[in-house]
Amino acid sequence: MLEQIQSLSRQYAADAVAARRHLHAHPELSFHEENTARFVAEQLTALGLSPQTGIANTGVVALIEGTLTPSSRVVGLRADMDALPITEANDVPYKSTVDGVMHACGHDVHTASLLGTARILNQLRDQFSGTVKLVFQPAEEKAPGGASLMIKDGVLENPRPAGMIGQHVAPNVPVGKIGFREGMYMASTDEIYMTIRGKGGHAAMPDNLVDPVLIASHIIVALQQIISRNRPPASPSVLSFGRFIANGVTNVIPNEVTIEGTFRCMNEEWREKGIVLAQKMAETMAEAMGGRCEFTRVKGYPFLKNHPELTRRLRTQTEAYMGRDNVVDLDLWMAGEDFAFYSQVVDSCFYRLGTRNETRGITAGVHTPTFDIDESALAIGPGLMAWLAVQELAKE
Ligand SMILES: [Zn+2]
Ligand SMILES: [Zn+2]
Repeated sequence: MLEQIQSLSRQYAADAVAARRHLHAHPELSFHEENTARFVAEQLTALGLSPQTGIANTGVVALIEGTLTPSSRVVGLRADMDALPITEANDVPYKSTVDGVMHACGHDVHTASLLGTARILNQLRDQFSGTVKLVFQPAEEKAPGGASLMIKDGVLENPRPAGMIGQHVAPNVPVGKIGFREGMYMASTDEIYMTIRGKGGHAAMPDNLVDPVLIASHIIVALQQIISRNRPPASPSVLSFGRFIANGVTNVIPNEVTIEGTFRCMNEEWREKGIVLAQKMAETMAEAMGGRCEFTRVKGYPFLKNHPELTRRLRTQTEAYMGRDNVVDLDLWMAGEDFAFYSQVVDSCFYRLGTRNETRGITAGVHTPTFDIDESALAIGPGLMAWLAVQELAKE
């Protein structure tokens, strides 16, 4: 079966590339994936599947049932479909035709790849048992995350997958290689908004004022101590503030200062505790200095944990499919990914599909205007995921 899947994956690669190029040329922003969802549903229908549309608005789900022997085992395969508000700078035949919108995170690749996986699995359905649940979700890039809405709409029920598998392009992994990491992989992504209020006025007379710039500066420094003193040592964390607005001038102290930042970690307990500590520190410090701090936390994605046993099994099967030398270890990554929502509910594994090709100059990072992939990854992605799904269904 391994060789059969590999050969089908190669055989269908040109179609997968064509689908990817179509999606790439017609990108749609998060929660607006109407044409993309229609394209996906049409492709699935053409295979003879019965896709269910309208889940979390533009999500599409379809089942492929193996007919070898009766089995209630279910495995879920996920692709995200949304693009980013970026103007493409690549000069390629499949360049985005939509001004200011670009598939700069490879979600066109994930969608095309999963369509290819569906085609292969559908063709081999008499050779496996159990059910594959294909999940095409909207809005990975935008809070609250399409995955969380898909879960609310019941994507992990009826039937409930024993495991969820997702892949993401990797501009730092050479094409032909696949990356895995067990356990903690990507971070939770909470946003922090603070308004520090004081009493502004002439900068020559600070004794009559409450200087919110000084208070805000103390708060910024103090909050970093929470990371260094309260964080569990084995738990990676980042607290960064990218916006600090004190709109006075040389001789005017403003009434207020606004600060915005992000808190990221890989431990849900610490995530809650860290926010509570930060809020308390900011509020009491402002108060002690005669001002006030309004602290708002906007909850982002949870941290992404790759289930150790599932990840180990998939890694072993990937070694069988790709050759041992073509499977690499991934580093922890403090970026967020809404696949994390699935990983909090069912055993999940998120792996990376190498798409880098230095000799062809394909090295740009995701979320940049020059991001692109080596499309020969689309000879690998569809078959590999089909192989992993079949192996998971065959488990015990
Ligand atoms: Zn992204
Ligand atoms: Zn992405």
